[in-house]
Amino acid sequence: MKIFNTRTRVKETLVPLRSGQVSVYVCGPTVYNYFHIGNARPFVVFDVLRRYLEFVGYEVTLVQNFTDIDDRMIRRANEEGVTVKELAQQYIAAYFEDAGKLGVKPATVHPRATEHIPEIVALIDKLVGAGVAYESDGDVYFDTKAFPRYGCLCGQNIDDLEAGARIDIDERKRHPMDFALWKAQKPGEPAWESPWGMGRPGWHIECSAMSMHYLGETFDIHCGGQDLIFPHHENEIAQSEAATGQPFARYWMHNGFLNIDNQKMSKSLNNFFTVRDILAEFDPEAVRLFLLSAQYRSPLNFSRDQIQQASATLARLYAARDQARFLMERAQSDVSEGDEEVLRRIDEARAMFLQAMDDDLNTADALGSLFELVRILNVSLSVNASRAALGRFLEVFGGLCAVLGLVARTEEDRLSAEESEEISRMLDARAAARKARQWQESDRLRDELKARGYVVEDTPQGQKLKPVG
Ligand code: AMP
Ligand code: ZN
Repeated sequence: MKIFNTRTRVKETLVPLRSGQVSVYVCGPTVYNYFHIGNARPFVVFDVLRRYLEFVGYEVTLVQNFTDIDDRMIRRANEEGVTVKELAQQYIAAYFEDAGKLGVKPATVHPRATEHIPEIVALIDKLVGAGVAYESDGDVYFDTKAFPRYGCLCGQNIDDLEAGARIDIDERKRHPMDFALWKAQKPGEPAWESPWGMGRPGWHIECSAMSMHYLGETFDIHCGGQDLIFPHHENEIAQSEAATGQPFARYWMHNGFLNIDNQKMSKSLNNFFTVRDILAEFDPEAVRLFLLSAQYRSPLNFSRDQIQQASATLARLYAARDQARFLMERAQSDVSEGDEEVLRRIDEARAMFLQAMDDDLNTADALGSLFELVRILNVSLSVNASRAALGRFLEVFGGLCAVLGLVARTEEDRLSAEESEEISRMLDARAAARKARQWQESDRLRDELKARGYVVEDTPQGQKLKPVG
């Protein structure tokens, strides 16, 4: 399999450190809020990476953290009048619920920063001891000038980075690019003991400490969104490699942004839709298919139309599975004359799927191969096909859909998906009524949605649906 490695900027063949095993670290969410559909992109894409690596026979250890202490956590906890710990519990539970609906399998381990303070402190202590970090007023900073490779991931040298950055002068730092490893406690903030007094870890160090704790000083693949390349991942490399003298992650994978109106969806721009809200309206598998409809490094534009289209695409995949099952039940013969040719074509489509996935996880092309299989079913398997041919179709089709985490529903689950689609149709009807200034009709639909448990809000990005209460 080839992976585009951000660090070398070329597609490289994946050769794991230990034969037959792949170790992966994914930067997980900061749990101060429900995650939005942009955040869902890395969760889903790297879940597919894991499923594919397992499919081709690797044993995968996947670590995805929860950032459960930082400025945003503290601010939000104060706003809500709960402790930082309570806030984290609430949104970690919500993460598992929402990600689970999107078919994201739990990672091997989901470590939390606050549960790894001893490892974090030990790592910082090592950096201070090695002379690449310094204490200043109870804070500890990484001395970026002491790490000559600083900038190796983002491809800029430290002087250019310094010139390009808008960094406030901070008396406590020796150089503007230095970043905090440890932050001294401010009044009312949660804090832990350390050789530098009470305080809490900075964001970057937690990922170095937790990835190396679970995966070793050198591991295979480190993943996250493009926005994390600089400074987060650059800093992770600096801290980790300065402490161990060993290479840190060997391959770096970064997903492109999910955009809305050609702008990155983000909490700070307030142009986001939470997955929780979207799932009130759409089948989670349709949302998942939408997120896989582009190769992971390409930008992807969010719109309700796109998800509706994904929903139609998904329905075609389900129809193929159901049709093949139906034909299988009624097949007249175990084998038939045309089998050889059909089996060859099924295997060809399977090989195309693998080829697409081997080419830097091209899920868009892989989906194309699934539709090649659907065509084979419709053209060559719909009349007098043998059990052997239909059996092979079902095996290959089911196996490949499972790599993408699609077509996993039973009949019962699909009924609830249909219900979501009905809600989606009501929203469309309401948008049309508003456009035609038919206020009575639009109010009637609002009431009907309310009766089903949803409140509609009209926002500049369109209607947003929230569960009542
Ligand atoms: P955060 O909770 O903000 O730390 O983000 C969690 C993950 O979502 C990180 O890997 C981010 O890079 C990623 N991410 C955030 N916004 C987007 C977006 N609009 N599109 C794709 N990935 C994103
Ligand atoms: Zn991280």
